[in-house]
Formats: sequence, structure tokens, C-alpha cells
Amino acid sequence: MHTLSELPYGYGALEPYIDARTMEVHHSKHHQAYVNNLNAALEKYPEWKNKSLEELLTNLNALSEEIRTAVQNNGGGVYNHNFFWQVLKKDVEPSGEILTAINNDFGNFEKFKQEFTEAAKIQFGSGWAWLVLDNAKLEIIKTANQISPITEGKKPLLAIDVWEHAYYLKYQNKRPEYIEAFFNVIDWEKVNEFFTKAQ
Ligand code: MN
Repeated sequence: MHTLSELPYGYGALEPYIDARTMEVHHSKHHQAYVNNLNAALEKYPEWKNKSLEELLTNLNALSEEIRTAVQNNGGGVYNHNFFWQVLKKDVEPSGEILTAINNDFGNFEKFKQEFTEAAKIQFGSGWAWLVLDNAKLEIIKTANQISPITEGKKPLLAIDVWEHAYYLKYQNKRPEYIEAFFNVIDWEKVNEFFTKAQ
């Protein structure tokens, strides 16, 4: 049985960049729905019921066809949001090993920001942009819907949710403004932790 993870901060913690109402609906309604739908999909599959999200998402091909898409969508939805909440915190400057690696792999922080912003902007429809570690190299990727980088063997370090539910209440159709604001709520200390673990 999968459960909704607690947010490590209050719904208003990321104001004004991400508003409290958006956080509340996003966490208590959207994220909760992925949890409920995942549990419903696994109900008749005792052999998969107690597997971790990581085990499910890295073994999608081993799942019965009947539930594979539901697990990809809803298991991915749970995993991706669990990850996303953890990398959000207001006013943390990029520093440490991740900053060094970004400078090495992208040239400088501005270039990284441009490339990440572009990926988030051009993801057509619902999905995510990610900074991942892939074979010891940093890479920016985007995924559609709730596809998770771990399914592709990549280790997530940073994510932005670009589903409209992540920004529509405050930004409406202005996704680029949401992406710009997002750069004020990245917890670079957390990104550094994920980077250390991924190596
Ligand atoms: Mn979302």
C-alpha cells in the first residue's frame, strides 16, 4: 500500500514563487490521486503490491500488460512528485560539487539555466524537465506525462513539473514565468545530496 508523502514544509513556504493554493491542490489532490490510482491498479497483484516505487518503475516490462500503463502513469506520478517536493526550498544559492559539475558539463550556470529552461518550455503538453546523472555525466532531459527517468536508468538530481496543474492558478498560460520563478525555489543543498548519492 502506497501512501502520500508529507511535504517537508507548509503549503505557503514557497510564496510568492509557487503559491500556497497551488501547492495545496497539487499535493492533496493531484499527488493523492496518483497514490490512490496506483493502489487500485496493484490491488489484484499481490506479487507487486509491496514492491517499492523504484522496483516497479525499473521493472515495467515485467509487469502484466493489464497494469503496466497504470503503473507507469500513477507509480511515476507518485515517484516524480515525491522527488519534486524534496528539491524545493526558497532562496538557496547553487554551490558545492553540483555547481562545479554544472560549470564543467554546461560551461557555466547561465548556460545550464538556459538549457534547462528551454527543455521545460518546449515539453509539449504535460510532463517534466530534469537534470539527471547518466553514466557519470550531467544531462538535461524531458519526459512526457509521468514517465520517470529511473525507468530509463537515469538518476534524477532536479526536476520541474510542467503539467498545467503545477502553475495554472497563478501563472495561467505563462509557463515561462513559472519556470523563471522556479529558479528561486531550488534547494541546491538537496540537489547536492542527490548528486553525491548518485555517483
Ligand atoms: Mn504535478
